[in-house]
Order: sequence, then structure tokens, then C-alpha cells
Amino acid sequence: MSYGLVMFGCVVSNEAFEHWCENCGKREILTPGEAFQAGWDFPPRMGVWGVISPRTCGDCGIETTLWWALQSDELTMDDPMSWPENRRQSLAWFLNEAEQHQRR
Ligand SMILES: [Zn+2]
Repeated sequence: MSYGLVMFGCVVSNEAFEHWCENCGKREILTPGEAFQAGWDFPPRMGVWGVISPRTCGDCGIETTLWWALQSDELTMDDPMSWPENRRQSLAWFLNEAEQHQRR
């Protein structure tokens, strides 16, 4: 029975929340369905909360994302304090979104 409740807790909510594009900085309040239609790469349809992955709007590519910088060895997780300011802001976003969304 408790397992069923856990499963229910994982059902994708259709509430709107703030989406954020790492590349152009656009912010929009969208539901997961609206975001998917508009081409956003964003959880819960794309990626997982609190895990570094591309976070972009429908107009932008993933080559400028923190995820890409890590994949291409431009940056490493060993020393985030040495990253450029904008990369540290991206990391802060991922940590913050984990707090905000994983509790739902
Ligand atoms: Zn964008």
C-alpha cells in the first residue's frame, strides 16, 4: 500500500513552474506540457531535477550549457569555485531546483 503511495507521488504534476534557459536567460512560467510543445529541454519530460543536464528553451542549442562544458571536459566538478561566474550560477540553479521540485 505504501509502495502505491510512493508511485502516486511520482506522477508528473501539471502545475506550471518557472523554466529557465541557460543560453539566452529567458524565463517563462509553463506547465510541463506547454514547455515540451515549445521545445524546452526541461524536467520532468527531459532530464531529472537536481541532476546537471541541458536546460534550454526551444530556440537554443545545448552547446552553451553547463552540461555540455562538463561533457567536453571544459570544466570538471572537482573545483566548481574556479568556474566562471555564469557557470557557478548554473550550478546554483541545479542545486536550488532540486530543493524546490524533489519534495513535490
Ligand atoms: Zn534560449
